[in-house]
Amino acid sequence: MTDTVPDNYRPEQVEAKWRARWAERGTNQPDLDRATRPFYNLMMFPYPSAEGLHVGNMFAFTGSDVYGRFKRLQGYDVFEPIGYDAFGIHSENYAIKVGLHPAELIPRNIANFRRQLERVGGMFDWRHALSTTDPSYYKWTQWIFLQLLKAGKAYKKKAAVNWCPFDKTVLANEQVEGGLCERCKTPVEQRFLEQWFFRITDYCDRLLANLDTLDWSDTTRTAQRNWLGRSEGAEILFAVAGGRTVGASAASTAQPPNRPIAGISVFTTRPDTLFGATFMVLAPEHPLVTRLTTPAQAAAVAAYIEAAASKDLVARKVGDRDKFGVPLGTMAVNPATGREIPIWIADYVLMEYGTGAIMAVPAHDERDFAFARKYGLEIVRVLSPERVDPASVPGNAALAAAETETAGYVLVNSGKFDGRTAEEAKRLITADLAAQGKGKPVVQFRLHDWCISRQRYWGPPIPVIYCDSCGPVPVPEKDLPVILPPIEDFRPDDSGISPLARHEEWYYVPCPTCGRRGRRETDVSDTFLDSAWYYLRYPSSEFDDRPFDPARTKKWCPVTTYIGGNEHAVLHLLYSRFLAMVLKDLGHIDFEEPFTRFRAHGLIVKDGSKMSKSRGNVVIPDEYIAQWGADTFRMYLMFLGPLQDGGDFREAGINGPRRFLDRVWLMVTEAEDGGELQKSLVVRWHATRKKAAEDIDGLRYNTAIAALMELVNAMKEAGSRDRAIIADLIVMLAPFAPHFAEECWERLGHTTSVFDARWPAWDEGLVVSEEIEVPVQIGGKTRAKIQLLRGSDEATALALAKGEPTVQKFLEGKTIRKIIYVQDRLLNLVIG
Ligand SMILES: [Zn+2]
Ligand SMILES: [Zn+2]
Repeated sequence: MTDTVPDNYRPEQVEAKWRARWAERGTNQPDLDRATRPFYNLMMFPYPSAEGLHVGNMFAFTGSDVYGRFKRLQGYDVFEPIGYDAFGIHSENYAIKVGLHPAELIPRNIANFRRQLERVGGMFDWRHALSTTDPSYYKWTQWIFLQLLKAGKAYKKKAAVNWCPFDKTVLANEQVEGGLCERCKTPVEQRFLEQWFFRITDYCDRLLANLDTLDWSDTTRTAQRNWLGRSEGAEILFAVAGGRTVGASAASTAQPPNRPIAGISVFTTRPDTLFGATFMVLAPEHPLVTRLTTPAQAAAVAAYIEAAASKDLVARKVGDRDKFGVPLGTMAVNPATGREIPIWIADYVLMEYGTGAIMAVPAHDERDFAFARKYGLEIVRVLSPERVDPASVPGNAALAAAETETAGYVLVNSGKFDGRTAEEAKRLITADLAAQGKGKPVVQFRLHDWCISRQRYWGPPIPVIYCDSCGPVPVPEKDLPVILPPIEDFRPDDSGISPLARHEEWYYVPCPTCGRRGRRETDVSDTFLDSAWYYLRYPSSEFDDRPFDPARTKKWCPVTTYIGGNEHAVLHLLYSRFLAMVLKDLGHIDFEEPFTRFRAHGLIVKDGSKMSKSRGNVVIPDEYIAQWGADTFRMYLMFLGPLQDGGDFREAGINGPRRFLDRVWLMVTEAEDGGELQKSLVVRWHATRKKAAEDIDGLRYNTAIAALMELVNAMKEAGSRDRAIIADLIVMLAPFAPHFAEECWERLGHTTSVFDARWPAWDEGLVVSEEIEVPVQIGGKTRAKIQLLRGSDEATALALAKGEPTVQKFLEGKTIRKIIYVQDRLLNLVIG
């Protein structure tokens, strides 16, 4: 035993010590009422699965935590909460699979998640941890439902909904991907059920317009824009030939047989092609079908409708199948040509889109073309790629249907509009129709109202009571929460009725209005309602008498920076925005955009392929943390690539960051005061302060870490053990390796947390004077230029070059065969 040997870096001990110290000192607990520079650093709260946190979660949380810690070092009061999104089908299905009750399973999972989250070293304020399954939380989820109900923003209707036969529940459109249930990948069916909806479509214009003002990742904004799906077009009224009811015998007694039909309304984004509309197609469910069917066609139509009803929505949406249909026997009048055109029904037209009826333009629409060919219907070309003499265009030219772009097209066979460009004609024809009262310009969105009811057990009961005398009655706010009763048999069945209906003592309840026996709503609300407002609850989680305290909300909201996965771009992020707008309109909050800045992080893959259970390549962080320590693992993950790109997890790389920390540990042990510093080292020192700050702010953690490594190399080259530089290095490392930095900080003689220190300022002039531009050549040609500090090494140059989009483009799918680096002059990459 000798005391000249410095004690080695032992992550286990260091990390346990600082976890305890943080809890003791309240290091991660900002004063929520008196903070002067509040910074709300939010990450997407996890669904607590039985498997525990996987490496993808950890990558996302660490990425957000690094940012929060950096902001704290810049002097902000950073609030970084965490919680559990623990209701929903995921949890319930897993409980069913393992034969446990979710009420038993979920607390276990949460305990495990909490242990893991603490071990990872996030700057979490545990005082404000929450779970959506806690009655003190879902009381307010139910309260929010009631506010929307009172404001007329929630309603119930029978609707065609997506039904997952495996999960035995309704899915929102957003939860259907390519016709499959996003959870279990089962083909989704169509069902008609009574459902609760939120009127998100009332907010389409605002949801779209605000996107331009948000500091969000472009990919996320684009996803929302596409999902909202704004299209400009026209609503056009096609009169029924004869202008009267036909097929009175087929019309049911429900409707007076002789009331004239005003016409059949269609929405089209292509009014310029109206002259080419040679038939109409209605969805089989269209309300006019019966009245438009002639007696001769009644049997065929009835048979067709029956067949269509047994088909699922997905099969109907698939574009490349054979199109079948039946004519109703009635004619409509094309309002432009005045010609009579036949009316058909076909299941490729869906009631839920537009008006449930289309004008078919077979010359310029692929599906209509296929349909016309199959049934020998007329095809009239009305668009031509160039200006031609209309007389030379044959009336029945069957065209390839690919002509969907309007650019460069002019109208033919379109009367007085011949020769107009398609773009001009859209406006002119719509205006012409409007003048005749046969149409009007219409803006349409693809977004539908948000179906929030689920016929399942594991969610907050929707707070409504049905009374035979009073109808649906909202549960009075004083009676909230409506507690989810503990029932043994929580499994869903195929009836479409929630399991809660089987629980009699809970189901029957006095009507709040008249006191007679009423029945509770047995549907629970969608998990996405839980998560649409959780950011409002965090700062106010200790208040039982209000969902969010006005003063706290004013101080901390909207969220300053939100980092999360883009898979939630059109679900969670859209719903949260909608709900904030409603709450603002109702006077509960004073902002309408909940997340000022949003950044989508990338994904972690393993050895080049996506992690999945079926591949067996899911990385569980625990074993790595046990072996290497949380700090090394954090650094490793953040070193994989820019946060927004994600990275490839290859075990071989982990010892690199660990060796680096070992080296810094030794430097701290050997730190010396005073002494003259070489100019080049001073420049490097300042440049590192600047570069690491800018890179962390831009979420380019990999290059920030590379800069810190380079500073260490420069010190070694200069033979320096300067205490001031080492102290700076520790501060700059702190966001990545928080326990390690705290321990080093203490060993350098400080008695307070390293997170009470400030990010060091730099001398801009000094840095700029030493910056040079170095060309990056690929295959002998200059493709980009990078800003380097004089004397930078190859690794730094390469890391910077790889961050350039143009370089990335050239490297995609290629391997770098050779790197030629001439310091301060040139980086040349040979690829193959
Ligand atoms: Zn499913
Ligand atoms: Zn009543």
